[in-house]
Amino acid sequence: MITAQPPSSQQEPRHAPVRWQQLWRDAIREPAELLDLLGLPDLAARVSATATAQFAMRVPRGFAARMRHGDPDDPLLRQVLPLDDEDRVVPGFDLDAVGDLDASGGAGILHKYDGRALLVATGSCAIHCRYCFRRHFPYGEQTAAAGQWRASLDYLAADASISEVLLSGGDPLSLSTPKLAEFTDALARLPHVRRLRLHTRLPVVLPERVDAELLAWLAGLPQSVVVVIHANHANEIDAPVARAMARLRDAGATLLNQAVLLRGVNDSVAALAALSDRLFDAGVLPYYLHLLDRVAGSAHFEVPADEARRLHEELSARLPGYLVPRLVREVAGAPAKLPV
Ligand SMILES: *Cc1c(COP(=O)(O)O)cnc(C)c1O
Ligand code: SF4
Repeated sequence: MITAQPPSSQQEPRHAPVRWQQLWRDAIREPAELLDLLGLPDLAARVSATATAQFAMRVPRGFAARMRHGDPDDPLLRQVLPLDDEDRVVPGFDLDAVGDLDASGGAGILHKYDGRALLVATGSCAIHCRYCFRRHFPYGEQTAAAGQWRASLDYLAADASISEVLLSGGDPLSLSTPKLAEFTDALARLPHVRRLRLHTRLPVVLPERVDAELLAWLAGLPQSVVVVIHANHANEIDAPVARAMARLRDAGATLLNQAVLLRGVNDSVAALAALSDRLFDAGVLPYYLHLLDRVAGSAHFEVPADEARRLHEELSARLPGYLVPRLVREVAGAPAKLPV
């Protein structure tokens, strides 16, 4: 279960919280409050108490400010509001949709693909996305940071074929920068690891996370750094987010985006093209467009593969190749993400 507090409050000595941590804690957690802010009180009747109890709502205020007032179909709202659609039991939508439990090497490591090892750095996220396949992931003590990184570092040190380490989660940037530095200081002693990749939604949902301390850490890393952000709709990328991207690039990071194809959020050529355009303007190239992982409670977000393929073909006809993300799906046991 993804916890609601940044792990810094549990696993690290207490310091005065920095600004992004205060904003994190100030997130909207009551569906009724969010709906009142947006002038949509009637929508409260469709909120599911069961879904909210199972996977709490969590929305940074700055992200909520990008939603359209009075629009029940707003694409950003749809990603975070626990609707009663989640209560439907649909065959084929399961608890561990991508076989993560099988691939877990312990210590929060998922080593499924050649050359790349993924660390579930932490279970925490600043926002709770309703479609997320990790909503049922039993993190517990399985996160890499929980054991002071020791077990994960031992695993990485023992396998010289690993040239790239991915920090994922949850959201790795929900860890404090000193906690991240603890890991990368040790990682710097493993010369076979040449690239560090961060899979993070924080620069999009809480751009204040990209602060001076984070940038200094990034700029000082000996590895090449790739930051894969996660935005599903052009409206997620406003001016503060674009400025955060510029700072990440100035710190030397290569910026890519992954999105999930979601019914009612970005399931049109116009929405996908607008997302690619906005990303490019912010210095980010589209990388993956994922088919939804079929996790319990997310069936109402699904776009069938045939329709996805059609959308992707039309997108390819409209945009330069470098603005067309790869349409992929994850299949348990496969050697890579599979093209659709
Ligand atoms: C998606 C994923 C990766 C990265 O795959 P790329 O195709 O290199 O982006 C690595 N490890 C795991 C476990 C993954 O799920
Ligand atoms: S999509 Fe990313 S940010 Fe959203 S809940 Fe899942 S892991 Fe967290």
